[in-house]
Amino acid sequence: MLELKNINTYYGEFHAIRDISFKVNQGDFFLVVGPNGHGKSTLLKTICGLLRTASGQIVFNTAEITRAATDKIVEMGLVYVAEERHLFPQMTVLDNLKLGAYNTNARAKEQESLEYVFHLFPQLSEFKNRYAATLSGGEARMLTLGRGIMSCAKLLAIDEPSFGLAPILRNEVFDKINEINSSGMTVLLVEQNVNQVVDFADRICLIEDGCIVFDGPREEALLNEHLKDVFLGGSYR
Ligand code: ADP
Ligand code: MG
Repeated sequence: MLELKNINTYYGEFHAIRDISFKVNQGDFFLVVGPNGHGKSTLLKTICGLLRTASGQIVFNTAEITRAATDKIVEMGLVYVAEERHLFPQMTVLDNLKLGAYNTNARAKEQESLEYVFHLFPQLSEFKNRYAATLSGGEARMLTLGRGIMSCAKLLAIDEPSFGLAPILRNEVFDKINEINSSGMTVLLVEQNVNQVVDFADRICLIEDGCIVFDGPREEALLNEHLKDVFLGGSYR
């Protein structure tokens, strides 16, 4: 569904993403892990057209998107859910959600998507007329996910949804992402909190210093000594 072939991203002279290739299959829960500052967000931003790769190719559902504009990429169904909240605090929950459906494809399905989002996140339905500013951290995170779904996503690329949340709320967010994936949506998730999410992943890719140092199915990742040492301290099961 999504294929990266030899992607290289620079910030000026700094080589942040180094020759990364991988494939995300339709329906997969693809988890990208790696220490802070090693290129995970840069990778997602490159995929979603917010940054440009210096070479290589990105293919989404048979179309090449390497140099496509972000709004076109969104319209094709590849939707980036940023780490930062990017919500409009002085707009209601409902209006924030509707903003997710600005492209033509999404607008046509707005009502249907809204029903799904409210089914998935009953709290958002309850608070739909409140300003986004009044939401708790966990609720705001749910709203960013909901807004991604409103864009008629086929693949949700989610950056560190657990960032800044208490452990119990992190679990809630991860459970919801798993539910979204179980409903058929392909998920590409970037996370540092591996322990709480590893069980949901079909495939795990470890990035260090902008390079892939491991890419394989979860079963293989669980046996990988380096992955255990770096992130999980061996005590994640
Ligand atoms: P991660 O998401 O894994 O924490 P990032 O992709 O945000 O890492 O950053 C990877 C590297 O690129 C880091 O060394 C970071 O300092 C650098 N970097 C990130 N954003 C910029 C930027 N806008 N300009 C220059 N360097 C950046
Ligand atoms: Mg990041």
